[in-house]
Amino acid sequence: MKVGVLAVQGAVSEHIKMLEKCGVEGVPVKKDQALSQLDALIIPGGESTTIGRLIKKSGLDRQIIKMAEEGKPVYGTCAGMIILAGEIEGEEPHLGLMNLRVFRNAFGRQKESFEAELEVPFLGTDTFPAVFIRAPYVTWTGPEVEVLCRFQDSIVAARQGNLLVTSFHPELTEDDRFHRLLIAMARENSQETRSPREKNTVGPAVL
Ligand code: GLN
Repeated sequence: MKVGVLAVQGAVSEHIKMLEKCGVEGVPVKKDQALSQLDALIIPGGESTTIGRLIKKSGLDRQIIKMAEEGKPVYGTCAGMIILAGEIEGEEPHLGLMNLRVFRNAFGRQKESFEAELEVPFLGTDTFPAVFIRAPYVTWTGPEVEVLCRFQDSIVAARQGNLLVTSFHPELTEDDRFHRLLIAMARENSQETRSPREKNTVGPAVL
């Protein structure tokens, strides 16, 4: 099992450490890397405008879309959420893979960075220590999007089949449940590739 971490800009090493803690290889993905050998991909936090521009320039954007279309899981944290969104308030989308709309820097100046313990029923009864850094939130979701978590009234984690997004940064905590969810989704997808059955059924039971 190999999970790529897009390494064009932003927080990369923390994701790689978290993946290694979960027992899988984390591979930094640079601009001329082939993604076909990877089982899943993480698009980390950073500056979405910069990440979007660099993946377009290098052609990684088309490779990521292909991966997602093959059913391989892609997980976007913070700026990664913005990169995957179908719509961005006031801007053109980047990959446009998920049927949801995001609002950048949504928590305003006073709350540029903060932490909150959030209920994520999908991951079990323990709260999740969510670290927000100039984070976006989701202002609208299409019917195929499952909302996993809210902070106050705002959607801050969601899933659409093999695509997963969080406004916050699990890689900056000790809680590896989102990373383990991504790995479980990747295992499920690689089993299906060998023996096709219904897609994206991974639930909390596998964590
Ligand atoms: N504010 C950044 C953006 O809009 C995201 C911040 C982050 O990834 N921590 O792209």
